[in-house]
Amino acid sequence: MSWLETGWRHVWLPYAQMQTAPLPLPAVRTEGSRIHLEDGRVLIDGIASWWTACHGYNHPHIVAAVAEQLGRMPHVMFGGLGHEPAYRLATRLAALMPGSLNRVFFTDSGSVAVEVAIKIAVQSRLNRGERGRTKILAFTGGYHGDTLGTMAICDPEEGMHSMFSGLLPEQPVVPLPRDPASIAGFESFLEQHHKTLAAIIVEPLVQGAGGMVLHEPEVLRRLSKAADHYGLTLIFDEIFTGFGRTGTMFAYERAGVTPDIVTLSKALTGGTCPLAATIATDELFEAFLSGSPMTALMHGPTFMANPLGCAAANASLDLFETEPRLEQVAAISAQLKRELEPYRTLPGVRDVRVLGAIGVVELERIENPAALRQALVKQGVWIRPFRNILYLTPAFTVSPEELSTLTQAIGTVLAA
Ligand SMILES: *Cc1c(COP(=O)(O)O)cnc(C)c1O
Repeated sequence: MSWLETGWRHVWLPYAQMQTAPLPLPAVRTEGSRIHLEDGRVLIDGIASWWTACHGYNHPHIVAAVAEQLGRMPHVMFGGLGHEPAYRLATRLAALMPGSLNRVFFTDSGSVAVEVAIKIAVQSRLNRGERGRTKILAFTGGYHGDTLGTMAICDPEEGMHSMFSGLLPEQPVVPLPRDPASIAGFESFLEQHHKTLAAIIVEPLVQGAGGMVLHEPEVLRRLSKAADHYGLTLIFDEIFTGFGRTGTMFAYERAGVTPDIVTLSKALTGGTCPLAATIATDELFEAFLSGSPMTALMHGPTFMANPLGCAAANASLDLFETEPRLEQVAAISAQLKRELEPYRTLPGVRDVRVLGAIGVVELERIENPAALRQALVKQGVWIRPFRNILYLTPAFTVSPEELSTLTQAIGTVLAA
């Protein structure tokens, strides 16, 4: 019996009904935009492993940086010991961010980066003697992670708020202010409840895990204005959108607004190792300074600022400087528009949308996602239908031919 069948009795898969989940495909090797399976099949990857592998898999520059770090110092604790990969990465991330977004807290996953953002928003107020502001305003369709604190600020249905009521902290979730009705609702909510709020959190420009739903930059300007008006901390969760995915290095650039906190993960290490960062303004950081240990930020994951992750992230930033990533995203975007748009008229297709290197074909419904996935694998591609969408979030280094294979595979299964 192979390792897959033996291990299948012991692993527990993400978001999977294990009673009916099909056996996963055994992946043994990656390179560029390709995943090699144990039986010799090679799939062109349309998802870049949850859009993390932005430079493609096994980029030699990242592999060399991580290998060098692995040989020298794989990990040391971050309490009391400093290391160059993290200090250099913090300096570089602060330089990439606008305004006074200068202070970087490293963690090991996106969910935890959001947890830290929530803690910063709430504790900064407590430290300044402002009580009663413990709520985070979030939006329907949003996704910010799987931990209990972040589930509470996800879409109420997806975050299973009613099923887990009593366990999750209660947080207000309202529709994104994008049309007259939702704008009115948003404004009246703030008018009534702003005194209980610490922060507003949003995924800028695209609600990723909520179904790749896009909104206009104007929505972010509206949130920014409201946050200013009521003195709320504005958190942009750029875990999906950060590092070029939407066409600019960060999504907020398109709106011309500066948040108070940015969370990053996913493509931070080019998809190589787990690492996340919560970046806060000097003003927020200063709220934690005092003569008392009681006002310190009380968080510290064991593997915080893991040197391998930081080495990978530094190498990934090198690649954004030395290789034409944003130009590649623009080219991918144009090709996705060209090749996906014709599917709009196919029966069962509800919408086609493209932003940066994100291409989405939304269907009326997907009856049998497992069968659809299998049909896509037969076409030689790795595309994972989810909810009622087929989406592409390829590596920015995907070749035009590989991208065409991906879009054609979608066309083929849609026609069938
Ligand atoms: C993936 C994601 C998260 C959670 O990150 P994990 O590393 O899976 O914990 C949070 N926010 C957004 C926008 C994401 O896309």
